[in-house]
Amino acid sequence: MALPNKPTWELLAEPDLSKVPVEEYEYDALLVGGGMACTGAAYEIGKWMPAGSKVCLCDKASLERSGAVAQGLSAINTYIGENSPSDYVRMVRNDLMGVVREDLIFDLGRHVDDSVHLFEEWGLPVWKKEGGNKAPLSEGGTPVRTGKWQIMIHGESYKRIVAEAAKAALEEMGYDLHERMFIVKLLLDANKDNTVAGAVGFSSRENKVCVYKAKAVLVACGGAVNIFRPRSTDEGKGRAWYPIWNAGSTYTMCMQVGAEMTMMENRFTPSRFKDGYGPVGAWFLLFKATVVNGAGESYVKSDAAKAELAKYTPYSEAAVTPTCLRNHLMLFEMKEGRGPIFMDTAAALGAFLDQKKADGMDEKALKKYWKELESEAWEDFLDMSVGQAGLWAAMNIEPEKVGSEIMPTEPYMLGSHSGCCGIWVSGPDEDWVPDDYKWGYNRMTTVNGLFTAGDGVGASGHKFSSGAHAEGRMAAKAMAKYVVDNADFSPALPQSAEELKAELYAPVVTYYKHYQETTHEMVNPNYIKPRHMMERLMKYTDEYGGGWSPYYMTNGHLLDIAMKHLQWLREDAEKMAASGLHELIRAWENLHRIWTVEDHLRHIQFREESRYPGFYYRGDFMQVDDKDFDGGGWKCFVNSQYDPKTGEWKCMKKKCHKIISD
Ligand code: AMP
Repeated sequence: MALPNKPTWELLAEPDLSKVPVEEYEYDALLVGGGMACTGAAYEIGKWMPAGSKVCLCDKASLERSGAVAQGLSAINTYIGENSPSDYVRMVRNDLMGVVREDLIFDLGRHVDDSVHLFEEWGLPVWKKEGGNKAPLSEGGTPVRTGKWQIMIHGESYKRIVAEAAKAALEEMGYDLHERMFIVKLLLDANKDNTVAGAVGFSSRENKVCVYKAKAVLVACGGAVNIFRPRSTDEGKGRAWYPIWNAGSTYTMCMQVGAEMTMMENRFTPSRFKDGYGPVGAWFLLFKATVVNGAGESYVKSDAAKAELAKYTPYSEAAVTPTCLRNHLMLFEMKEGRGPIFMDTAAALGAFLDQKKADGMDEKALKKYWKELESEAWEDFLDMSVGQAGLWAAMNIEPEKVGSEIMPTEPYMLGSHSGCCGIWVSGPDEDWVPDDYKWGYNRMTTVNGLFTAGDGVGASGHKFSSGAHAEGRMAAKAMAKYVVDNADFSPALPQSAEELKAELYAPVVTYYKHYQETTHEMVNPNYIKPRHMMERLMKYTDEYGGGWSPYYMTNGHLLDIAMKHLQWLREDAEKMAASGLHELIRAWENLHRIWTVEDHLRHIQFREESRYPGFYYRGDFMQVDDKDFDGGGWKCFVNSQYDPKTGEWKCMKKKCHKIISD
């Protein structure tokens, strides 16, 4: 019988690892993850792999509802359409305060629409503009554009639709899909230096460890959530803006085998509807709502706000103020004592109705129009953040009558939304790409055969769901080329299957060895439960690493303390205990979180400026220092690398090239 998912006391006994079978597999390509990027890779890879190839996708959950889009979305935020990929680069560069990989962004921009067209072909309903062309987008249909880059969808089942296509593609090629398989770590080749050879994981449904050999591996397991203390407390703690199951696995697994990381100092601190974490994009863009302070004043237009923004030229001068600076203004207002901040939903909806009245719409038509508007507002939440709809219902919120509080949340790490932390990868092998940006295979990390996409690729945010899917496809194509070019490579693992099993199941052994020593299994002198581990982590990152409680402020001294705590946490992590398979996942997820956040804080410590005001501040270096890398400034990348041979970490500056003109 499998370990219980919840402790059931009758089943507790000394664990006998001989009863945990190990399955060993050998593939040409292994896809780790199951979100938009990996479903994109699954859809694409078979088209490029050599005949008779073997591929497997491992998802820790079920493909149908996994990843950041699991709950659905109400918009696709990257659709280039009538715009140009160069303009897309300009927008991303400005929103991310100048330091981005323009080659990767341009490459994504020129491919992303193809994925959106596929989504529509597979059945995703895309809103079409009234009076416009109702044909599919690929045939010139006119979408409802909320912003220059965003289009509206009826997207509650978005992920199911995309997963179905991915599953069909895998099936058609005779490839494998291992769901409920949590990959714990990657394995380097025993003979060939700096080359990936496979991965190891365990099933979350039965006692089973799987050891995979592969010539090439794609890791796309999303970003990192629950690394900082959330604003929600105890019973609400599972509520977060980004999916709580994204535990930094992408970053940690690649980092641990020596992949160079980039811009890990970057984080995304989204401003959301308070407590429900509901999306704000549709309100700002579709409903043209504005934010006001506690006194009902439009603070973003105040002289004080203008003076604040003036400190961040040229970025603050763009048509759309960068996301971090919008947060900065909100925080400024709150710290001045003029909170709370409201999304003025009443004024926004009222303005639509007033306009229709002015246009001469009669009462009956006006009523119908109002119903449509109201249902659009609710659908925005129901499509992608159903908890917010629940909260509004519970609080008797009538958005046409009262505004709703919005609030900057706890920080998240990701590379696909308005953030850009991640892994340093090769760009496309084309003549306009600088030499130090490319080393052969598009989206390959600095470890041979190890690829990433979506949240994994650093220094190129604003991909969103469509971009992550397109990037997964691009990475898969390059992986196939790598597999063809390395047909003779036969991966050899550095550890035996039995050793790997013992390592993965160690938290279970620890638990069963000691759980009877105390009256409550949560507290024990010989182990720590994953839940407590996570809470310790959140306390340190929040207080020392610039979480929400100190208004995202940190400095060199605080970071020195954070580093000590994180090192102790990593040591203590060896004493984590898991009573069941779910808790075993939680244990390994925590380790992934600890490594990810350690790298994050190392980068913040290294970058002696505050590049993203509103996301975090270095109190000892409050300015944005735009002098170039050669001039000793910080308009450059910060990269880091962990050496798996010595256990040492290093941080370094890397030149940031401007490829697209202003
Ligand atoms: P969100 O709902 O915040 O996830 O954002 C969805 C999309 O709207 C993204 O493309 C954001 O960059 C964009 N967005 C959100 N808020 C604003 C705003 N106030 N001004 C301009 N763009 C925004």
